[in-house]
Amino acid sequence: MLIDLVRSACECRSHLVVESGTGTGKTVCSLHGALDVCHRRGKKLLYLTRTNSQQRQVMYELRGIRGTRNHFGIALQGRRNMCPLAKVDPELADGNPEELSKVCGERKARVMRGEEDACVYFASVMSQDMQEVTRHLRRELPTAEEFADYCQERTLCPYEATKMHVPAADVVAAPYIMFFDGFIRRTLLDWMGCSLGDIALIVDEAHNLPSYARELKSSKLSEVTLRLAENEIDEFGDPEVAEGTSMSDLVGLLGNSLESAVEEYLIDEDGIIPQSFLEEELMFGTRQTSTKLKGTYSQLSNYGEMVRDARKGAGRLPRSYIHRMAGFLTHWHTLEEGEYVKLVVKSDTSAFEAYCLDASIACKPVLECHSSVHMSGTLRPLDDYVLSVGLPRDSVTAEIESPFPPHNRRIVFVDDVTTRYEDLERDPAIVNRIADHISSIVSACRRNTIIFYPSYATMHRVRPLVAAVEGMQVYTEERSMGQGDLMDAVQQFKSAHGNAVMHAVSGGRVSEGIDFPGDEMELAIIVGIPYPKPTSRHRALQYFCEIKFGDGWTHAVKAPTERKLLQAVGRLIRSETDRGMAVVLDRRAAQFEEVLNASRCDSPAREVLDFFSERSPEDHATSDVYKGLRPGRR
Ligand code: SF4
Repeated sequence: MLIDLVRSACECRSHLVVESGTGTGKTVCSLHGALDVCHRRGKKLLYLTRTNSQQRQVMYELRGIRGTRNHFGIALQGRRNMCPLAKVDPELADGNPEELSKVCGERKARVMRGEEDACVYFASVMSQDMQEVTRHLRRELPTAEEFADYCQERTLCPYEATKMHVPAADVVAAPYIMFFDGFIRRTLLDWMGCSLGDIALIVDEAHNLPSYARELKSSKLSEVTLRLAENEIDEFGDPEVAEGTSMSDLVGLLGNSLESAVEEYLIDEDGIIPQSFLEEELMFGTRQTSTKLKGTYSQLSNYGEMVRDARKGAGRLPRSYIHRMAGFLTHWHTLEEGEYVKLVVKSDTSAFEAYCLDASIACKPVLECHSSVHMSGTLRPLDDYVLSVGLPRDSVTAEIESPFPPHNRRIVFVDDVTTRYEDLERDPAIVNRIADHISSIVSACRRNTIIFYPSYATMHRVRPLVAAVEGMQVYTEERSMGQGDLMDAVQQFKSAHGNAVMHAVSGGRVSEGIDFPGDEMELAIIVGIPYPKPTSRHRALQYFCEIKFGDGWTHAVKAPTERKLLQAVGRLIRSETDRGMAVVLDRRAAQFEEVLNASRCDSPAREVLDFFSERSPEDHATSDVYKGLRPGRR
């Protein structure tokens, strides 16, 4: 069914939005359906993924279906992942795409001038016979990581070697940023040798797209940037930028304005500031008109360019914080009031933020593509998605159920606890009851269990109260954890086969994008309902959706919460034989009863024991905690 839907979307040049449950073979089916039409119509297939592991899956599936078609697919990643020099140089590793592009351009130019040691990897690409590389790419269809290893052995630049083969590729698998960032998209289209109208687009894990698109178009000016801008002025000079105002005066003025905004408008972690607050502060502080202020931003930008050139010339990352500041101020003063909200935010540091409310701004290029397919296991409500990313209202929508037996998964919820703020304030003992539920379930069940909390703050409040279970390892997803450390913890958790508990966050890195087949995870405990935090930013988004779509609650609150819940329980069943259970510890789950197919229960530990006993009673022994009730696995 999915193949036909995708084929027809490509054939009819339309947009398809499809929720396709676990086990429906989204990647392989969409490739099959789209490749048919692309081949006949001379179009290129651009497959966008959110994570590297999804991109790897695209290449594996392409290999699998190679027998039926002679296609050539290539996996693209940015320089930060692919450049061998960035892997060993922390300064380069910290560069953004534009900065790395400048460094790379400079080094390649030096190689072309005969300075081979400027980049030995590029020099090898220039001097080696690349035919063997071409054969390897066509024969093996390697993932980006596999190709990077292949190139490393031959001292070749994988980025340049990949780029040179893009024009011949029928399928390009790339991260979201390569399409949705205008600067990178133009480069990509150049390499592909085509226009947007020649591209059949697939957006995988599309439930991420609305928030991704909003973040991409948002920008910040933080206290840290201002401090680094001051250092830059110390190093490169302090010119006058307006009569009687030096550049350092201007940076100081911005810092003072930020402090005033924090004092006046911040509520908890953010606050909306009046539309012209910053502009008025700067006009008053520099005694300039609004028009003249724009001229000042140009001066900042020119100064920033000078700094970038000087740093590039010295072999450093061409970064300028003054340039960044100029870009932010120019954007801030020109942005559309209805599409953005101006905020002051404070977490580790304070900042001005222009937060984009309208995901359709970044998604506009999708409309110019030959066709597009947006798919995910958790995309409902589909109409909400269509409106959020600005697809035509007549886009095709479809829901394909998972083929796995529905009785392999059970979801229950309790109604004696909640993480609702007002209730927790009134009755702090609720936290203890939540911890008691978790302790009882985990000790009775003794299967690999992930506990998903609505926030790190709630996790830090509940976790210390959960009783340790003898012999069970405990892992935690911390916000500050590097990707490597988190993956190590996940790997150890998976290999514990029934003897581990992990504390994680709904909507975090563990709850999305990592598969836990078989006994790698059999029980999910969802603490609270992962509603978005009622911040000023979120209230502005809800208001924006109310005005634009006529229903702020559904678009900004209900739909994203449903998707987060479904993502978390979706980790349970990854194959036909998987069985798993989810317990939601919050009475508000009743509002999601239908979408979750959940039922109310009084004793979740007993329900869990019942569910797992149904499978193979002989595999179970009596639990210490629930001796006499039901057997639990030891
Ligand atoms: Fe890095 Fe390759 Fe550019 Fe050299 S050519 S700087 S190795 S990306």
